[in-house]
Amino acid sequence: MAEEKSFKYVIVGAGVSAGYAAREFAIPDLKHGELAIISNEPVPPYERPELTKGYIEFKTNTNLAKDYVCGETGEQRQCPQWYKDKGIEMILSTEIVKADLAAKSLVSSHGKIFKYQNLIVATGSTCSRFSEFGVQDANAKNIFYLRDTKDLDQLALTMETKKKRTVVVIGGGYIGFEISASLRVNNYDVTMIFPEPWIMHQIFTAEIASFYQGYYEDKGIKIIKSTRATGFNTNSNGEVTEVKLDDGRTLEADIVIVDIGGTPMTSIFRGQVEEDKGGIKTDGFFKTSISDVYAIGDVATFPMKRYGDMRRVEHVDHARKSAEHAVKAIKAAEEGKLIQEYDYFPFLYSRAFDLSWQFYGDNVGQSVLFGDNDPKSPKPKFGTYWVKDGKVVGAFLEGGVMEENKAIARVARTQPSVGSLEVLSNVGELLIGSR
Ligand code: FAD
Repeated sequence: MAEEKSFKYVIVGAGVSAGYAAREFAIPDLKHGELAIISNEPVPPYERPELTKGYIEFKTNTNLAKDYVCGETGEQRQCPQWYKDKGIEMILSTEIVKADLAAKSLVSSHGKIFKYQNLIVATGSTCSRFSEFGVQDANAKNIFYLRDTKDLDQLALTMETKKKRTVVVIGGGYIGFEISASLRVNNYDVTMIFPEPWIMHQIFTAEIASFYQGYYEDKGIKIIKSTRATGFNTNSNGEVTEVKLDDGRTLEADIVIVDIGGTPMTSIFRGQVEEDKGGIKTDGFFKTSISDVYAIGDVATFPMKRYGDMRRVEHVDHARKSAEHAVKAIKAAEEGKLIQEYDYFPFLYSRAFDLSWQFYGDNVGQSVLFGDNDPKSPKPKFGTYWVKDGKVVGAFLEGGVMEENKAIARVARTQPSVGSLEVLSNVGELLIGSR
């Protein structure tokens, strides 16, 4: 007879959104044994973005405790004891391989059965892999994909034991952007390649990206744009030695780090719940098409009220806020109350070297740059506003202090009308004191 456990609430996944959901469930308190969090990772929820920022440190041992949620938002860090104290059952190193949403039942790879009254799907994303696209020698040793602590620990171990120090980073998104800087700080020889015409193409304009490209190159990172990796060469041990490029060149590589996008982890629910844009479709309370089943974080495709469309957002701020909103909605429904629909205002950020940027709103329409974006300046500071239909809809700032970041957020949130881009640029310069 298979082991069976029942809970009022089950969260599948123990990533960022699960951690913030647990915190919300625990306010003010939770009955012991009501909530279980099941994850295939061996550790409780941590601030995943820190993997390529604070967690990765090649010279010393890594330390996860400083990265447990909810430290990044100034709340208490939830160490394993926190979950025990709150009576939350943390079921780790346990992969859910089958879900029967009609029967309200989940099955783990060990054959254990978990029954629930309310399910929260918080399974996040996984890295897209070259092997899925039939790329030659995609499974060679020392090719890394970075999603969790295990990936980072393996990379760090390989880095320490390698005599050569040549790394090719494939991909110009968040992970490529941050890991390249971390490696360079640790004196690795780093080349970045990506198919887009500039780094962080989904968020940055060409003008923003030209600053980061110049800055990275000054730090010694080589950047090859508009170029694809088509395969790998290996030695007799099956270790990667070279990356082949679509222009016929090859790049020497002891280590390759790949960041070619993510895929939402929805497969165990497929066919049982409505999907949209690759994710699980929800309403403005993160309820899916199946009653008592919610989806939060990277997997949820939800109504983006302020822009009037459905979106899936793979960013940590949404992971946190969607979790809190879903739990508030669950608690309100239990009391026969209603809360407001989720009204997400996008916020993205990153840190690399001694740089730090924030972005708020939507990066659509025309853009205007303000401030000093010369990578050779002693203290570069600049921003960009995006304008659509005569209104400011997005704002970006590199090197801003807290008050300035708050100010650009306010602009993107309130969407003021603008007469001309030139005036807006002057307003931006006044904001950061460069005029
Ligand atoms: P996750 O945090 O990915 O958690 C999902 C959890 O579910 C994992 O523990 C996973 O193992 C588990 N799981 C999946 N399937 C199963 C299953 N079948 N059974 C059991 N468990 C399962 N965002 C930003 O905004 N800024 C950044 O600077 C930034 N940097 C990042 C850097 C890195 C290296 C990575 C990987 C991501 C970064 N992100 C960043 C994105 C951000 O971390 C994600 O958007 C966020 O973690 C999503 O939270 P989540 O809870 O939906 O998923």
